[in-house]
Amino acid sequence: MAESGEEEFARDAVQLLRAAVPERLSEIDEIIALAGFREGRDGPGFKFENVYGQVIFTHRSVMQVYLISFLAWRALRAYSGLIILLLATREPFDLSKVAHLPEQAAADEAVDGLAKGLTEIRKAFATLDVPWPADIPAPSLVKHANVEDQAAQEVSLLALAFILLHEIHHVVLASKGEASGDWAEEHKCDEFARQMMLRDVDHYAVSCGDNPFMVRSKRAMAIALANAIYAEITPQKLWAGSDHPPIADRCFANYEDWPADPNAPPWIYMSSVLAAQLRRRNRDVNAIAFTSARDLCEKLTELTR
Ligand SMILES: [Zn+2]
Repeated sequence: MAESGEEEFARDAVQLLRAAVPERLSEIDEIIALAGFREGRDGPGFKFENVYGQVIFTHRSVMQVYLISFLAWRALRAYSGLIILLLATREPFDLSKVAHLPEQAAADEAVDGLAKGLTEIRKAFATLDVPWPADIPAPSLVKHANVEDQAAQEVSLLALAFILLHEIHHVVLASKGEASGDWAEEHKCDEFARQMMLRDVDHYAVSCGDNPFMVRSKRAMAIALANAIYAEITPQKLWAGSDHPPIADRCFANYEDWPADPNAPPWIYMSSVLAAQLRRRNRDVNAIAFTSARDLCEKLTELTR
């Protein structure tokens, strides 16, 4: 019998989790026995909701996760070279000193253009009203020819897994009568998703013949992207906290278990993403002395308060 669109949507979500953290299959099956996924009606915004034992989300939200991953990649292109250079020369990170350079201005413009396209997609009455952003390849089931596009897509799928794990933990807590509905619950759901993705990652990488540092780095980048998405969809006046905890508090908690090397890729990635977000929201990102990419990342995180 052919599957309905709804069954297919739910099955794809479970498949995504199983592919994202293959070392935690038994726990995923336990969770799925308690809670499920369902496609919600399309509408403006970024929607992941928990209703009656189900995580409900829209195709438009999935598209935003994908596009924000490409946005993050543009931020990485705009700032990673600068961060590495400044680490070598031991100079402070100072956007006011580089913003006028033609290459930097073009890289910043590429970030701003896609950010504007994303805002339009989020606000549109119907997604069909909005053109697909220029220069962004459509999601692909086969590998993208461009390695950066492929990396951005892979990180977006892992970030989506993180978000789904976070949301489904709300449902599981509710089913056990343990949902407190406050900031503490949000932190618990982040912690659950983070542990699912990072706790057994070294063992898993070794069992596949992969480099544990690389696999941990990639998953940490996905957690960085999930944090970037929370910041991206949250109006700046609510960064300091609303029904969700402050962006900075969630970020700091989610840095746990990232690679110990303070200049590992996730620290450069998150620094780049934060620098772009702070610049776009007209915060001063000037004269920040730093000793490592992690140090810069933590200082930029503080600036989101
Ligand atoms: Zn939540």
